[in-house]
Amino acid sequence: MLLTIKPSPRMKRIALYGGSFDPVHRGHLLVAQAAFEELELDRVIFIPAAQSPFKPDHPLAPSGLRLAMLRIALAGRTYAEVDPLEIARGGVSYTIDTVRSLRDRHPNTELHYLIGADHVPHLPKWREAEELATLVEFIVIPRPGEPLVPVPTPFRSRQLRGFPLGVSASQIRDRCRTKRDISLLTPSTVAEFIRTNQLYL
Ligand code: ATP
Repeated sequence: MLLTIKPSPRMKRIALYGGSFDPVHRGHLLVAQAAFEELELDRVIFIPAAQSPFKPDHPLAPSGLRLAMLRIALAGRTYAEVDPLEIARGGVSYTIDTVRSLRDRHPNTELHYLIGADHVPHLPKWREAEELATLVEFIVIPRPGEPLVPVPTPFRSRQLRGFPLGVSASQIRDRCRTKRDISLLTPSTVAEFIRTNQLYL
């Protein structure tokens, strides 16, 4: 009798990408594309924060508008989606709560968490850091101007090569306030949304 051995299907692989996205910009989009390709992911999930624990006093654009800009920016990008669970939960957005929810929603899935090089030194101070370290592998995104510091134990991590681009949301907000052009920093559809909604003036 001939036995055929079927290769077992590989586990699903998802990267979670949390941030304020105030607004989303080309740096974020290139990170998602690089992660999708380099890590052979099934999906990248953008997760806009209700309120970042790192910027507690920082007023953000209304969550509905940040969500709308993300949806516009990701239209047609089949590898990416937006999950509004932190906005729905409200309050300060702790990654551990988000990861627990997504782990329950995506069983038998490898979870990765994208994090800018600027956040790495603060990882040990994240809420329930030890538990978080067991649930996700961190994918460190290079950011021009940010030194690449090693990820502390017990976190598991990998480094993304990416397409380093020195664009930030604060730069875009600043340029809007001073009436300078932002059309090359974020997709034109998002730039148009910012203009018609008179954001960041
Ligand atoms: P702000 O300028 O308001 O602080 P930001 O541009 O850093 O915002 P966030 O929404 O806070 O954007 O970023 C979400 C995540 O993406 C963070 O981990 C951040 O480090 C990372 N990130 C943002 N911009 C870039 C970029 N240009 N290259 C690589 N990583 C980035």
